[in-house]
Amino acid sequence: MKTPRLLIIAGSDSSGGAGIQADIKTASAFGVYAMTAITAITAQNTKGVTAVQAMPPELVREQIIACLSDIGADAIKTGMLANAAIVKVVAETLREYAPHIPLVVDPVMVATSGAALLEADAEKAVIDELFPLATIVTPNLPETERLTGMTLTDRKSIRAAADALRHMGAKAALIKGGHGTEATITDTLVWEHGEDSFGFPRLDTRHTHGTGCTLASAIGCGIAKGYPLGVAVAKAREYVQAAIASAPGFGEGHGPLNHMV
Ligand code: PLP
Repeated sequence: MKTPRLLIIAGSDSSGGAGIQADIKTASAFGVYAMTAITAITAQNTKGVTAVQAMPPELVREQIIACLSDIGADAIKTGMLANAAIVKVVAETLREYAPHIPLVVDPVMVATSGAALLEADAEKAVIDELFPLATIVTPNLPETERLTGMTLTDRKSIRAAADALRHMGAKAALIKGGHGTEATITDTLVWEHGEDSFGFPRLDTRHTHGTGCTLASAIGCGIAKGYPLGVAVAKAREYVQAAIASAPGFGEGHGPLNHMV
């Protein structure tokens, strides 16, 4: 069987817990070949982000083209995109070079520590340019509220928000429940086959750095392997749960997951 290929378009996390580093580790755990187009370099650790340098948009474009024009990809994942110029160039390049490759869009906005990973004026570009290309978008609760302008209070409002995300052009929406307070975390997938929810017990830990990146990459890996979307999401969610449960406990803040599982 051909080795599945995942192109990751995202930012670098020096501490190896989130971003490109989490994405590559996840791909390796899934037996998927990872390629990267780096959008930004961050200096950060488990306590927070101390510096961010976005890459020139043209360099992001060249990285994507270099990968797709030679090795090719079975799925693409976007994470931190930093600013509107990068969002626009990524969308334009994917429209040109990857019109038929499934795309997972993790609409990364703010790190757990509070650092902005996407400039505020880029949010509209994410909706207008990237959502229409997305096979699935994977916002958490705060990101969903920001993107839809809706207040999420119950399951009905989460369903309405997922429908709104799909109206923006995404084929499917996975709204992650981790930022809630319930003992069971419910992630809600709304797609062409209706609604599915994935419930997992909330683990009592502060070591959740990079959870969102890891989940989106794991979904991309499942898609690259040819799993139906519902299966890719279920397997990805199981992977993240196990990765949190076996986190190594590094650092004084929010430590990384265990990507070796
Ligand atoms: N750093 C980078 C480069 C990221 O892409 C992300 C999330 O996507 C984060 C940090 C945030 O990770 P967390 O919110 O888990 O701290």
